[in-house]
Amino acid sequence: MKFKEEDSFFRKLTGAEQRPVIIAGPCSAETEEQVMQTALALREQKVDIFRAGIWKPRSRPNSFEGIGLKGLQWLGRVKRELGMLVSTEVATAHHVEEALKQGIDVLWIGARTTVNPFAVQEIADALKGTNVPVMVKNPVNPDLALWIGALERVYNAGITDVAAIHRGFSSYEKSKYRNVPWWQIPIELKSKFRSLPLIVDPSHISGNRELLLPVAQKALDLGYDGIMLESHPDPDNALSDPEQQVTPAGLQDILSKLQVRKTTY
Ligand code: PEP
Ligand code: MN
Repeated sequence: MKFKEEDSFFRKLTGAEQRPVIIAGPCSAETEEQVMQTALALREQKVDIFRAGIWKPRSRPNSFEGIGLKGLQWLGRVKRELGMLVSTEVATAHHVEEALKQGIDVLWIGARTTVNPFAVQEIADALKGTNVPVMVKNPVNPDLALWIGALERVYNAGITDVAAIHRGFSSYEKSKYRNVPWWQIPIELKSKFRSLPLIVDPSHISGNRELLLPVAQKALDLGYDGIMLESHPDPDNALSDPEQQVTPAGLQDILSKLQVRKTTY
């Protein structure tokens, strides 16, 4: 995979200063009002891309599995009325088609999908002929080849704006993290593909609010290209991932404390 850094969608977003790309929004779109209210607040905070999950791949059944198609229309409203770039997770070819129909700007493949080459290939096939930017989260398990394989499937479908999202890895060992970061894995990825944008997802690594800032800072210190953070107007009552979401004000606090001291890997 060869990426042209200068022309990259993700690089261009942050202009000459090349600050990290900021992606933020709720874990899940829940109501139209929640989506609009969150987006409006985040627009004030230099958030480059608004995120919200519409189809939620939950580990166990009988939990909130996403609002579905009508949520895409809410994201369409954020794009039209607030002028923000919008992004959602796709796990099937059908999701890709629906998201593109609604004009979603950026898609991402979730950690539970990256583990499955059949699913990733189906998504990649649905992406052919488009050039929508796609972000690929690491698989839930610490398997660099699977992560690279998913990135390659998307890239080979003709998508040149591909980014990797590091969201940590499942472990049976007890840990202070929800998903252990194992920083050496994304570092190895970046050392193989230097111009591949690498984005950290402190929300899913941490699983709580306290660790968000140190995890995000560590990633910036390592030279990551962007940050994806979950934000909800009433995190404690969020329908998914309540412990790790922060209010837009909480997000602003984190962003204001982050120091960009860009180093190299
Ligand atoms: C998410 O971003 O809300 C999500 C489901 O993440 P992951 O695929 O990393 O678990
Ligand atoms: Mn989430």
